[in-house]
Amino acid sequence: MKVVLIGVGQAGGKVTQSLAQFDYDMGFDAVRGALAVNTARADLQNLDIDTALIGQDRVKGHGVGGDNELGAQIMQENATEVLDELDGRITTEAEAIVVVAGLGGGTGSGGAPMLARELKRIYEKPVYVLGILPGRDEGGLYQANAGRSLKTAAREADSLLLVDNDAWRGSGDSVAAGFERVNDAISQRVGLLFASGEAVEGVGESVVDSSEIINTLRGGGIASIGYASAEASEDAGENVNTITSVTRKALLTSMSLPNAVKADSALLVVAGDPERLSRKGVERARRWVEDQTGSMEVRGGDFPLGSDKIASLIVLSGVERSERVDEFMKRAREAADSQGGTTDPDEFTNDKLDGLF
Ligand code: GDP
Repeated sequence: MKVVLIGVGQAGGKVTQSLAQFDYDMGFDAVRGALAVNTARADLQNLDIDTALIGQDRVKGHGVGGDNELGAQIMQENATEVLDELDGRITTEAEAIVVVAGLGGGTGSGGAPMLARELKRIYEKPVYVLGILPGRDEGGLYQANAGRSLKTAAREADSLLLVDNDAWRGSGDSVAAGFERVNDAISQRVGLLFASGEAVEGVGESVVDSSEIINTLRGGGIASIGYASAEASEDAGENVNTITSVTRKALLTSMSLPNAVKADSALLVVAGDPERLSRKGVERARRWVEDQTGSMEVRGGDFPLGSDKIASLIVLSGVERSERVDEFMKRAREAADSQGGTTDPDEFTNDKLDGLF
């Protein structure tokens, strides 16, 4: 799937750069453009991709300091400038636009849903938000911001792909090392997903293409992604169990939104050397994903790659009714209450989120 990436805010810019770098290093060429937008000059200076500084008249390049309402306002006021900056980058070959942001901060949290809305108004392509949820030990402002941003992003985007900052962090990681690990994990998993629709080698009926990714996400709401790999035997027949076990591992232990398995639809991409992939294994794994997710809409396909490993990449769509999202919204509401913020007690309930879809 050929994509154009727009990172909003600090985390958005860093993750966008990391995704563009992974795609370039792997030679996939699925990332056709990358732009980082921020209100803080200093955060843009560390990036190698193209950048756009907005809101200088308001915050003089110093950022919005966690005020996501100001982040949203600035994006709204500067939407035309950002869209102009994107003009020429979003060509007809791009199949989707992905806005990337940390949902707990200010610029990305407020700005990403606004930008998604503007992009949807103008482009006839799916607009996805890749949103990062604050970890459990992050402060109340982050939790409250993310609760609000999550709801708006889920409403405005064609799909909100969520990554929980706690999902892929090592237990002994410092904050900085944790971010680096999470960013690497995001770029590998999401980068492979984009690339999986671009396979040219061994093109056949079983090879996944971009339309399957788009159709899996078509129902909207919240999506998550997971991945696991293992050494494969040279004999495809011996890899039936390998494929089912990496699929189990991907779904049960590696999702970007942990413990949210029930889904409306799903995509299972099995990557590896075509000579080593077992059709029986792929089909068995796909049916197992149907059982686990309770979804009758589980697409499956191969991603031919020259590798002696086999990997399963899983995308779940429609996971907003999960306990995990309820639990997060509860955390966000408590944080908003203790900040003396919300006037609407229902603002952070998942029932309301349910009502959006
Ligand atoms: P903004 O610049 O105002 O949009 O704010 P940030 O992008 O710094 O958003 C803060 C949120 O993003 C917090 O929840 C942080 O935990 C998270 N965050 C900041 N930097 C990174 C990063 O490099 N990687 C990840 N995964 N999360 C980050």
